[in-house]
Amino acid sequence: MALEIKCPFCGGKCNIRTSERPTLLTVQARIYCQNCGTLQADFVGQLTNIKRALFIDCNEAERWSKTEKEQIQEDGKRPLTNDERIAQFRAGKEQPDLFHSEETIPKH
Ligand SMILES: [Zn+2]
Repeated sequence: MALEIKCPFCGGKCNIRTSERPTLLTVQARIYCQNCGTLQADFVGQLTNIKRALFIDCNEAERWSKTEKEQIQEDGKRPLTNDERIAQFRAGKEQPDLFHSEETIPKH
């Protein structure tokens, strides 16, 4: 587990001795501190606020000559937040191209 838990007594990095999964979304562990040797505790972790990624086509990237990050630094344009992209998707709208405003997108 890449989670770092600090000892409330000495601030040292705790060790996890045992780990169980009581349910699909929870993990339970016994915590010790090898630094001071005076801590024994239970740790319970639970996944909450679970979301699943949705990948959206980004064909406009094929026309880019620089990264989106570079474009943002040059002209201060702001990319859509993920929530805004989801709203566009649900409304059946095209994802806007950060590099071209609506007027300058070349007509095919
Ligand atoms: Zn300690």
